[in-house]
Amino acid sequence: MLAASMSQDASPHNARPTGPVLVAGGAGYIGSHTVRLLERSRVPVTVLDNLSTGHRSAVSGPFIEADLGDREALARAFADVKPAAVIHFAAKCYVGESVEDPAIYYRENVSYTWNLLEAMRAAGCRDIVFSSTCATYGSPTELPITESHPQNPINPYGRTKLHMEHMMQDYARAYGLRYAALRYFNAAGASPDGDLGEIHQPETHLIPLILQVALGSRPEILVFGDDYPTRDGTCVRDYVHVDDLADAHLRALARLQAGAESFACNLGTGQGFTVSEVIDAARSVTGHAIPAHVTERRAGDPAELVSGGSLARELLGWVPKRPGLEEIVSDAWRFLRQDAD
Ligand code: UDP
Repeated sequence: MLAASMSQDASPHNARPTGPVLVAGGAGYIGSHTVRLLERSRVPVTVLDNLSTGHRSAVSGPFIEADLGDREALARAFADVKPAAVIHFAAKCYVGESVEDPAIYYRENVSYTWNLLEAMRAAGCRDIVFSSTCATYGSPTELPITESHPQNPINPYGRTKLHMEHMMQDYARAYGLRYAALRYFNAAGASPDGDLGEIHQPETHLIPLILQVALGSRPEILVFGDDYPTRDGTCVRDYVHVDDLADAHLRALARLQAGAESFACNLGTGQGFTVSEVIDAARSVTGHAIPAHVTERRAGDPAELVSGGSLARELLGWVPKRPGLEEIVSDAWRFLRQDAD
């Protein structure tokens, strides 16, 4: 993994990426926020999504409904769009599901990514920014987790994401692909104007579930374990605002397009909150009581995941603009209430 030297090839941190950009999975949660930021930055963008989990209504610009498993459709999309670069969000992302049915994860995360890289190679398109995850690190052996932490994923989801990183490294070495692997911590929140946000079916993520309790569509929030070695016994996570993630994608792409080497970096705020603290923040934001009930630990949950280091700041000039937990929760709350109306 190469981290480019700032003196030689870093882009100015406010540089704008050059389009057209093809965004695979751009109808999903993080993808749709990124597409909107690209559009607002006047970068031409086309979304390609099979709508298996994404939402057509989240995309207002050019859209191709296609599956990354369909290599002919991919070739047609590259011929039509002639992308200067790709941003790749399309993937399966549930840890539990990946344990129960790993075949889907190896097919859609690994082999579909290979299809995408082959389509890029055939079209002579060489820059790609893609969603990786802190799950590639596995159970942390040291905290906070920096990019040099060993990558030993403990579930098929994390393993397939690590395979994607390895594939990119090999393609970079052999074929001149240039990639940015962005290892997200816990994506959360919604666009502050309330029209884009997180809708998963089924919902498994903590903040939307808590807010559904506040909204009255769930009776209580189950807290998965309160006997972890953390300050209040519940798990600690680093929640990062989805608009801050979107911003990092534009910066990463601009950096590659300015000639930087491939790189991988964490995207987190460096600040961890326990499950109980998130519930308290939601009580304060919503004014609702939000009944909580402690239950057993969820399999595969490390006690604490918090991003460390400053690589994203050094390489991308990226500093989260909305790092506060209350801001994240209140943006998610605004979206959920608007969506429920
Ligand atoms: N969690 C919880 N109850 C829930 C959902 C999640 O206590 O109903 C906890 C989960 O154990 C983890 C944290 O909330 O410690 C964040 O979980 P989430 O599924 O949102 O994201 P993950 O960390 O799995 O990516």
